[in-house]
Amino acid sequence: MTFRTRFAPSPTGPLHLGHAYSAILAHDMAMAEGGVFHLRIDDIDQSRARREWETQIYDDLHWLGLTWPDPVWRQSERLEHYRSALQALWDHGLLFPCTCSRADIRAAAAAPHEGAPLHGPDGIVYPGTCRPDTPPRGPMPDTALRLDIARALAVLDTPLYFKETGRCPDGLNGNTTPKDMIQRVGDVALARPGMSASYHLSIVIDDADQNITHVIRGQDLFAATQIHVLLQRLLGSPTPIYHHHHLIRDEAGKRLAKRDDARSLATYRDAGKTPSDIRAMVGL
Ligand code: GLU
Ligand code: ZN
Repeated sequence: MTFRTRFAPSPTGPLHLGHAYSAILAHDMAMAEGGVFHLRIDDIDQSRARREWETQIYDDLHWLGLTWPDPVWRQSERLEHYRSALQALWDHGLLFPCTCSRADIRAAAAAPHEGAPLHGPDGIVYPGTCRPDTPPRGPMPDTALRLDIARALAVLDTPLYFKETGRCPDGLNGNTTPKDMIQRVGDVALARPGMSASYHLSIVIDDADQNITHVIRGQDLFAATQIHVLLQRLLGSPTPIYHHHHLIRDEAGKRLAKRDDARSLATYRDAGKTPSDIRAMVGL
């Protein structure tokens, strides 16, 4: 089986050292295995994606010496694939429409405990306001759609599991129990109005359709992986092997963010740094 991995940045800002680490690591691992490294453009959130950032992604990665096969997949060109997966989940009675605003969710999530709402890998754990007792029928509405997590977990015949070859955050591993998922993840949004599919759904479908065997990405996505594995199981897709790597931090120990222009690759390049300097800076 060919080792296939990918780097899937969102074109919402400049790539920084953390992206360089992730991309070079994935590229090196693919080359070491005689495999393939794909670049994908995660532009599902069209309100934030910009063509200029996408162009800069190509420039930065070429400058680093990375290569990838054409065509580069763009999520904005794959919406019908996400739609048909949503339709399948809807037909199985696993989705429900949700009309809550963020403020509604925050208020409802905080109320019963009179405390801070519980945060999971998809944001505040959904308090269940719109969840129906029986699966909704009829045509799939064009609203936000959430996965009824308890119902979804109940259709699985074996426990959720993924193989991790990187680092698990303290106290965690690739196993997860239904109870934990219901309490700590909740009914994740798989479609939002104006955004067709959520990050979780689109990335899972892209990985499956591109036959990705190894997902190499930052540890910040470790907790979201259980959602991805659940979606793979519901959609009948294989679960790749995951490798979550440590995050590159600044001198103060803070993780780099997109707006951190000071550490953008373009800034280093303009200052005369070379690709080998960048490798050395991220420890590769
Ligand atoms: N676009 C996502 C990000 O930049 C990709 C995450 C993933 O590799 O699954 O965080
Ligand atoms: Zn709702």
